[in-house]
Amino acid sequence: MSWTRDEARKKVGHRFVCVSRAYKLPFVDELTSESKSDSAQCVGPSAVRKEVSLFGLSERELAARGVGASVFARIQRPWLWSEGGPRWSARYDERLRGLRALVPDLEETHSSTDGATKVVVRLGDDRVEAVHMPRDVGSGRVTLCVSSQVGCAMGCTFCATARMGFGRHLSAGEIVAQVLAVIATLGPRHPGQLTLVFMGMGEPLHNLPEVARAITVLCEPRGLGLSPRRITVSTSGLVPEIDALAKLETRPLLAVSLNATTDETRNQLMPIGRRYPLSELRAALTRYPLRARERITLEYVLLAGVNDTADDAERLAAFGALFSHQINLIPWNAHAGADFRAPTEAELDRFARALLARTRAVITVRRSRGSDVGAACGQLVRARTLKGSQPSNK
Ligand code: SAH
Ligand code: SF4
Repeated sequence: MSWTRDEARKKVGHRFVCVSRAYKLPFVDELTSESKSDSAQCVGPSAVRKEVSLFGLSERELAARGVGASVFARIQRPWLWSEGGPRWSARYDERLRGLRALVPDLEETHSSTDGATKVVVRLGDDRVEAVHMPRDVGSGRVTLCVSSQVGCAMGCTFCATARMGFGRHLSAGEIVAQVLAVIATLGPRHPGQLTLVFMGMGEPLHNLPEVARAITVLCEPRGLGLSPRRITVSTSGLVPEIDALAKLETRPLLAVSLNATTDETRNQLMPIGRRYPLSELRAALTRYPLRARERITLEYVLLAGVNDTADDAERLAAFGALFSHQINLIPWNAHAGADFRAPTEAELDRFARALLARTRAVITVRRSRGSDVGAACGQLVRARTLKGSQPSNK
């Protein structure tokens, strides 16, 4: 790639990896009634499991059970754990009885030559993936890509996770425990060095109540204490949930997977486009209330010969004209059975240059991290399934 620094800020990010009037998506209300949420007793009527996860409870909710802030900290701060999990004085055992305190098993870790580690996280009979990506060498900073669902219901044709179909929502407790278990093993030790991205398996806005609860708990100052400005939720474009996200008290950053610039192409790639066409998505992003210096990230997976023309660059630039944004170009990460082609360096370069000429937005290119270990979220668990190992999503 021959760009100068001024032409584009090429950011070595991780390969984030990762329905309609005619095509019926099992939408949120239908799905939540099936949801096996284990914190549902705390957040809504969708409980199937009776158990509540300790990891999904806020400091206030624990206090209501007569358990103080120091125990909350012992649960949420993995550097205070011992023997692989949180410990507390025996006098709290009775008050915490019945809460599920199981730390998920990191069943497989695959270290890539580029420093990224792909982790298969076991949650009961299910498996999801997380990717741990140290940033600059020596900085200690880490980006952690986490999953919000087992599989995904959105059916995007270029995505490995889509091929698993929808398994279930993760509960807030499972999402929090996923984060804590990975950083307990791989770091960072200081939460200020952690950036969290919901770009693993699943559509986080399809599971918004649990994702929102998880973010709230992860941001509690006496817990891990993350800043919501260091958490990014990536969505395929669920318009009502984007509006709902805007109203959260603890609100993360928003990324939207655009991936096409005409409804025709987008509908072929992302069935959700048939329910929320580009005009509705753009209207939602235009009314989204951004905070000072906040920008929406538009993600654009480049598929050679599909969405990479100069006209696409023109329309992509125009799409974001009314809201503050940055554009993240993602060369498609090939996986078995998908009928697409990854762009060559020259094709990527051509598209990026065409875009640079038409927008003042910051453009980054998301480089694949951990591609030698099946980096695309969904690829590792799926490879296991295809090999005949235990299916992960059913
Ligand atoms: N469901 C959410 C978040 C998970 S997918 C969403 O779609 O935004 C995270 C990102 O990975 C999305 O931008 C998606 O377009 C991208 N992605 C999925 N499969 C990919 C692949 N094979 N190669 C490159 N990017 C991919
Ligand atoms: Fe994959 Fe995201 Fe589409 Fe789901 S919404 S199928 S995770 S790209």
